[in-house]
Amino acid sequence: MFKVGITGNIGSGKTTVCKIFETLGIPVFYADDAAKKVMVSDTILIEAIKKAFGAESYQSDGTLNRKHISAIVFSSEEQLAKLNALVHPAVFRAFDVWVKQFEGQKDVPYVLKEAAILFESGSYKMCDRSLMVSAPQSLRIQRVVQRDNIPAEEVQKRESRQMAEEQKLQLANDVIINNDTQLVIPQVLRLHQLYLSLANQK
Ligand code: ATP
Repeated sequence: MFKVGITGNIGSGKTTVCKIFETLGIPVFYADDAAKKVMVSDTILIEAIKKAFGAESYQSDGTLNRKHISAIVFSSEEQLAKLNALVHPAVFRAFDVWVKQFEGQKDVPYVLKEAAILFESGSYKMCDRSLMVSAPQSLRIQRVVQRDNIPAEEVQKRESRQMAEEQKLQLANDVIINNDTQLVIPQVLRLHQLYLSLANQK
């Protein structure tokens, strides 16, 4: 299966772009949602988290003790990296299982994997192609303030933890410019044609 990894920094519009691909019939795997799911369903991961961060990482009903985990991982970059190192392989496994359902389906020429940390996690290396949704920082911040109703400083704080826009642009094979002046749909349609032909050659 031909796999396209799609990413972009906070508020760039990656989810919006994915929804357009979905209307074209392209399945999208949302890695952030998958990460939340595997933390309560992947038994290997659950055991590893308990071992690393204590049995109190989970409530007695099996749900995640978010307060406990957040307190640990937001206290140090090292702890956050440790959690990510445990979660990423489980998300990769979930993605592989998800992709299998489309193997051999003629109406699914390729799939998308949406991940905010596609480059940071190294998961772009497991994709055939990477696509970056890019927008100016001020516009991205403004969009998230409006969408989530949170202060601009909070968005800026989250943004500052992400890999710089320029660095991601250098790594990406393809780019969609989602600013206020360029239309998104024609850009998606152009890339869709490209991916159809690349998938055909694979
Ligand atoms: P996050 O990283 O926070 O998950 P994201 O990259 O997935 O964000 P979206 O949620 O797709 O970004 O977009 C952020 C907000 O900006 C949403 O409210 C969305 O509706 C809006 N938005 C995105 N692109 C456009 C656009 N071209 N025109 C108008 N609004 C847009």
